[in-house]
Amino acid sequence: MRLALLASIFVLTLSAPAPADEIGECRFDRETLTFAGTPLDQATCLLRKVKLLGEKEPQPLPPVISSLMTNGGAPSAEMKEAALGAFPQPYQDYARLHATDPASQTEAGLPALYFVIHDTSDPFYKNDPFPRDIDNDHRVNSFTSYMDQTFASAPVAHIFLNRVGQIWAGHDFQEPWRATKLESRVVGVPARGRFVHIETVQPRRFLPGATNRGQTEGPRPGFSKAQYRMLAALYVYSSARTGRWLIPGFHATVDAGIPDAHDDPQNFELKEFGKELEQLVGR
Ligand SMILES: [Zn+2]
Repeated sequence: MRLALLASIFVLTLSAPAPADEIGECRFDRETLTFAGTPLDQATCLLRKVKLLGEKEPQPLPPVISSLMTNGGAPSAEMKEAALGAFPQPYQDYARLHATDPASQTEAGLPALYFVIHDTSDPFYKNDPFPRDIDNDHRVNSFTSYMDQTFASAPVAHIFLNRVGQIWAGHDFQEPWRATKLESRVVGVPARGRFVHIETVQPRRFLPGATNRGQTEGPRPGFSKAQYRMLAALYVYSSARTGRWLIPGFHATVDAGIPDAHDDPQNFELKEFGKELEQLVGR
């Protein structure tokens, strides 16, 4: 009995994947908790355009992102203040309260490194058309469903950002959190704290003829100007709290290559994000 058990453990050990295996299309290493290549290489892979049904397409990085990824360093005190000043109330007061708290780190002590942009894919309109003015629609912009355990017992991301530019912090950036399959299903607890997560409000509806939630479309344009502006401010602010420029990426590219990966964010215009980032940090 015992020998058989030992033998089966031995076989299991042999057949288990090596711990250093790289995960997904951007090749995440489960020991270093880092995607493959330089920060610029990583941003290039993680910021590939996310198209319909989760297809990814390479796209050029805005010069400001290339320069931050190449030169390294951290946001200056002036940049951090510019980001704080851009935030609406009541989030601005909350962000100032935590402004000198470090961002999350993993249980092994590795600091946050990735800034992950999501779309909420909610509200879901099934076969109905989107409301005429989603940027000002009450239901689209309500935070209630993200606050009231509709989706999970705890808020699914650090930040929720609606189309008006209002911000609700589900968790402070200090709290190690997870919101991708890479973290929750593949690497597990050791990855927690390496990623900060921003849920950006965008509704969804079925593609014509679709019957499951894997076949949906977002509105065009996908996001409002206020959302790009606040995403840029959140990126500068969370990078300042980490003490280095975080590597930006998308949910769908972080999980690319993992079965049942999500397809968010849809219709994200990297150029618009770059423009708003330039306003805060220069070129
Ligand atoms: Zn997501």
